[in-house]
Amino acid sequence: MKPITDLIPILEDFHKIIITTHASPDADALGSSLGLFHFLKARGHEVQVITPTDYPNFISWLPGNDQVLEFNSADDDLILEMIQSCALIFCLDFSGLNRIKGLAEAVASSPALKVMIDHHLDPEDFDDYRLWDTSAAATAELIYDFILSVDGKKAITADIANCLYAGIMTDTGSFRHANTTSKVHRSVAELIDLGANINQVSRSIYDTNTINRLRFIGFSLLEKLIVDQKKNIAYFSISEKDIQQFDLEKGDTEGLVNYALSIKGIVMATIMKEGPGEVKLSFRSAGNFAVNKFASDHFEGGGHKNASGGISYLSLEDTVEKFEFLTLDFKEKYGSTQIS
Ligand code: 5GP
Ligand code: MN
Repeated sequence: MKPITDLIPILEDFHKIIITTHASPDADALGSSLGLFHFLKARGHEVQVITPTDYPNFISWLPGNDQVLEFNSADDDLILEMIQSCALIFCLDFSGLNRIKGLAEAVASSPALKVMIDHHLDPEDFDDYRLWDTSAAATAELIYDFILSVDGKKAITADIANCLYAGIMTDTGSFRHANTTSKVHRSVAELIDLGANINQVSRSIYDTNTINRLRFIGFSLLEKLIVDQKKNIAYFSISEKDIQQFDLEKGDTEGLVNYALSIKGIVMATIMKEGPGEVKLSFRSAGNFAVNKFASDHFEGGGHKNASGGISYLSLEDTVEKFEFLTLDFKEKYGSTQIS
């Protein structure tokens, strides 16, 4: 595997390009993909963005969304054929093939060269070229750096600026998380000068709630939130019945976990959400408490130190029981509970 700088001089030799990203894409995954899509198209490449699954409405306004293909749809045969016949595959915002679910085998076996651009820990070795930096706040920040190093600022259109701004804004929790460096602010300032409409992006992402979602948040805070000040943890367990009761759409539970982390003294917050045959877990932490390690040790997951996810194939009840047990005496193992 070579550094991405080795790809830049020969980039134009690759005509057909696929861009893919992790399952259940978030604004960083889709914003990075579409930002890069607009850039490569303008350079004359034939480019297709493919997502392994569908994604929430609050990111489907991103410019270029209408040209994305979703796997697990009527387009599957076409998608698999495209993956086999393209020259280059950009893998954005993930570094383990299991994160692209049903696309993993096709991507692994494709003769195309693979480019990983990512900021998650512990990358697998499936790529030919790599731009990987765990200190980057978002993959969109890395795409911004990549575009600058290929063609400079003049290549950044307003569409690209909006896509990349959306990714950086959300992955930094609106510039609040510990990953929000001065470089993030400088890059974002440039993106604003290049046409990012920050009010429109944040309204489109944060202010498009349905009343059902708001009522669900109220219900969860009132009825579902468990707070344990001795363990410094707070968590929600959400059943399929709860999801049906509020007629929730994809993405409607996102952000709920942050309410639990906002409680004074809480160092780790968790949501356990029941789905068909599995329970999806989301973890958030404060300070140096490493939830990615907790997720990988016990729930086949990973992510970042302060924001990770994992999965359980037990029932929701048994997952809660396992979680309660694992958190009995776990603080020393994953980091200090002091918030510095
Ligand atoms: P979220 O809780 O928002 O779904 O995910 C938070 C972070 O954890 C994201 O960076 C995401 O990429 C990562 N993540 C979520 N689920 C998984 C998982 O099942 N496995 C791994 N390795 N990372 C995950
Ligand atoms: Mn990201």
